[in-house]
Amino acid sequence: MKVFKFLAPLLILLFLLLGNLAVPRMHRETEFLMDTVITVTAYGRHGKAAVQEVFWRLREIDAKFNAHSEKSELAKINTAPENTPVSVDKEVFNLIKSAHIFSTAAEGLFDITLLPLNNLWGFGTENASVPAENELKNTMASVGFGLITLDAENCTVTKHKAGVQLDLGAVVKGYAADEALRILKEAGVESAYLDLGGNVAVMGGMPQSLWKRIFSGQKTRPFVIGLQEPDAPSGTAIDTLSLTDGFIVTSGDYERYFEADGVRYHHILDPKTGQPAQSGLRSVTIVSENGLIADMLSTALFVAGEKEMPVLYDLCRQVITINDAMELTYVK
Ligand code: AMP
Ligand code: MG
Repeated sequence: MKVFKFLAPLLILLFLLLGNLAVPRMHRETEFLMDTVITVTAYGRHGKAAVQEVFWRLREIDAKFNAHSEKSELAKINTAPENTPVSVDKEVFNLIKSAHIFSTAAEGLFDITLLPLNNLWGFGTENASVPAENELKNTMASVGFGLITLDAENCTVTKHKAGVQLDLGAVVKGYAADEALRILKEAGVESAYLDLGGNVAVMGGMPQSLWKRIFSGQKTRPFVIGLQEPDAPSGTAIDTLSLTDGFIVTSGDYERYFEADGVRYHHILDPKTGQPAQSGLRSVTIVSENGLIADMLSTALFVAGEKEMPVLYDLCRQVITINDAMELTYVK
């Protein structure tokens, strides 16, 4: 009886230990890239090598698309004179082309040439301020996706006005998330969770401990992702979403903003006015099987607002494949 008294806790401990050992190893790395904190978590024995490969790729994407780095492919276009075809890397060309097609579909709501406006407002810098009306008007003159043409055969971009500058801030993180999941899958990772500054990508579901597997009969369970409550400290969830495979992308007015005279000026601009979009929404979240489309759509739908959303959605459907499984949720 005495022996049992000692053995019982030991057995329970062993039982719990074995149960947890049966959970695949986890590898997690965090790095600041694309102007945001990126965390990649992968489970299983391929995890470490795969996560390192993902970061190698994310650094490459960041280097090519960073509009604020002089050495990027984007800077080559942004500093080029007008009416001069600029030859760019094929990957860069293809992403600009996809975003240009989307800009056309979402005309007036989404535009990849907003960098001059973004710089004028100074979002994310210490010099953020409300521009004077004439400054805004002058800057607007070099904004518009119609001011660039693309030549797919030669992979060139031509600006038709001096001062036109591309900003793929609403596009690159979604594309990077697509690339990250592709790399993880190819490396043999079965379960992973990525956080790209609030944009989440998951695959395979969250591995369960042995006990949970026994009791639920499931090897994994969906990842639970919190949706940020706009005015609460970062990490406070207003709601949660469960997802096994796919992307959850949010555009919100709380992500980057400054306040002047009691007014909040946020980073998602209405291309028609050059001012922060005033659609009455605080955030738009898309759940999708495609990170790039989710990223572009979340920004455009934020600008569109609740009433115009169905119209924009239908317009976009005409040029891009929107999977029927796509879900949309928003905060007013
Ligand atoms: P997101 O957080 O994905 O909604 O993207 C916001 C970023 O996209 C901003 O920081 C700008 O760089 C850029 N952006 C802002 N407004 C627009 C817009 N209407 N269309 C396209 N890009 C935009
Ligand atoms: Mg976006």
